[in-house]
Amino acid sequence: MEEPRFLADSMLGKLARWLIILGYDAAYGGSDGRPDSALQEQAQREGRILLTRDTRIPEVAGLRMVLVRPARFEDQLRFVLKKLGLAPDRQRLFTRCTYCNRPLESVPREEALALVPPLVRELRTEFWRCGKCRRMYWEGTHTARAVEKLERWGIWAAGR
Ligand SMILES: [Zn+2]
Repeated sequence: MEEPRFLADSMLGKLARWLIILGYDAAYGGSDGRPDSALQEQAQREGRILLTRDTRIPEVAGLRMVLVRPARFEDQLRFVLKKLGLAPDRQRLFTRCTYCNRPLESVPREEALALVPPLVRELRTEFWRCGKCRRMYWEGTHTARAVEKLERWGIWAAGR
């Protein structure tokens, strides 16, 4: 199956962020109240599955939509993965920028050390950077916490 790509409506920003954390290409429709028709048009043009909370959104021929019924984002995440039969791959965790949805680029350690806070320099980690916003990424307590949450939510079995 081809890897699904997503477009999340304005109600589903947090869901989009967690899909990105899992390594999926998940664009966010923005919080500026764009009409459904504009989101549908974008999803169709970019070949994305539209994730929406809007129960009254009209069907569009050829456009795949998932009506996300749960209210809490961790339930939404489980719901979407189950609905599409997706099993997230641990190797893909944090491979995209959680702000821009862009795949991260590897940065050589020597170059990265000049760009991160002092405490981070002591970590045994690889470094990555977003080519768009230039944010730096590394493995630390925030990544460990994300894995813990995913395990708690039943997205992954512990220690898998
Ligand atoms: Zn970025």
